[in-house]
Amino acid sequence: MGTPFPDEKSERYDRQLLLAEVGPEGQERLAASRVLVVGLGGLGCPASTYLAAAGIGTLGLMDGDRVELSNLHRQVLYRQGDLGLLKAEVAARTLAELNPRVRLRTHPQRLDSGNALEIVRDYDVVVAACDNHPARYALNDACVPLARPLVDASVRRFEGRLALFSPGSPCLRCLFPRPPETPEVGGMAAARGILGPLPGILGCLEALEVLKVLLGIGRPLHDRLLILDGLSGEHRLLKRARDRACPTCGDRPAATVQAEDLKIRRLRPASKETKMEIKEIQPEEAWREMQARPEIQVVDVRDPESHRAYHLPGARSMPLAGLPRRLNELDASRPVYVVCMKGKRSVEGGQVLLEQGFGEVFTVARGTEGWKELGLPLET
Ligand SMILES: [Zn+2]
Repeated sequence: MGTPFPDEKSERYDRQLLLAEVGPEGQERLAASRVLVVGLGGLGCPASTYLAAAGIGTLGLMDGDRVELSNLHRQVLYRQGDLGLLKAEVAARTLAELNPRVRLRTHPQRLDSGNALEIVRDYDVVVAACDNHPARYALNDACVPLARPLVDASVRRFEGRLALFSPGSPCLRCLFPRPPETPEVGGMAAARGILGPLPGILGCLEALEVLKVLLGIGRPLHDRLLILDGLSGEHRLLKRARDRACPTCGDRPAATVQAEDLKIRRLRPASKETKMEIKEIQPEEAWREMQARPEIQVVDVRDPESHRAYHLPGARSMPLAGLPRRLNELDASRPVYVVCMKGKRSVEGGQVLLEQGFGEVFTVARGTEGWKELGLPLET
């Protein structure tokens, strides 16, 4: 496969490949995924370490801070000699040594509502491991319109909280519409005292949740909030509900993000039920149909570079983020096949079409990669 050490990969991931829920297919899925970790403190250090070790394809590391002495009791990626260096860069160096197969991207800057959409756009799943509420809320407000799952954790003294906010499920603002008056997460909370293992545990739970989401296994915390009491060792799971009046994901969202992205939000899946309506078509059958029925429109929601490299015959490039604005280029009365790289994001694209009255919408199973593996014709 062009890798210098063909056996290295199977040996490296052997212990997770043994799990039927992972296997080679799951491992490929991880390798094709892009995960952003925002905040490289007590939560982000363990989260990014386990994600890199598990073989996430692209890992984004975002933090504008530098390593301080008081970080070392819980931020386990850093060493005494790293004091004063940018966390994002030290983390990237350490994680590259841990797993050279992972593509590491550093964002040595603070996340805020001004840059969140631009950065989040490039990733499939986001981990909020931030030390401040404005960043958590900015992430939430970017992930909702972009339909990106957001794994969020926070710690306060001896208590840790974990939730997953994913498309169609309640978001952070459904729970807490506004940031609390006194910001107390991660570093801010740490200023009031913290035992290192607690953010360590929560960061690990975040990594586990990301893997579950990417692998499509288990029961992710879509609709529940996990509260861990570090002193008693007990945990509680609180049921969460979507708030229809939520300023971010509700029926009438406030203008907290650019109008363009609000437009995407209104088109995104309103519930899990509507998601079920999208039909999936196997690549071989799709190719037979495409040859027999020239009226079929094939929409490629990958980025333009991927489309330029190769695409399904006749597929037009309509990247997911811009799809809602370009629906007038398609004929709603004719069938549409939506294709992405692996057959996952095409579901989001298909959902946009369905909600806008397109009748026959299919997603192409296994995406362009599966198509290529089967040796079906491609255009370049
Ligand atoms: Zn909400």
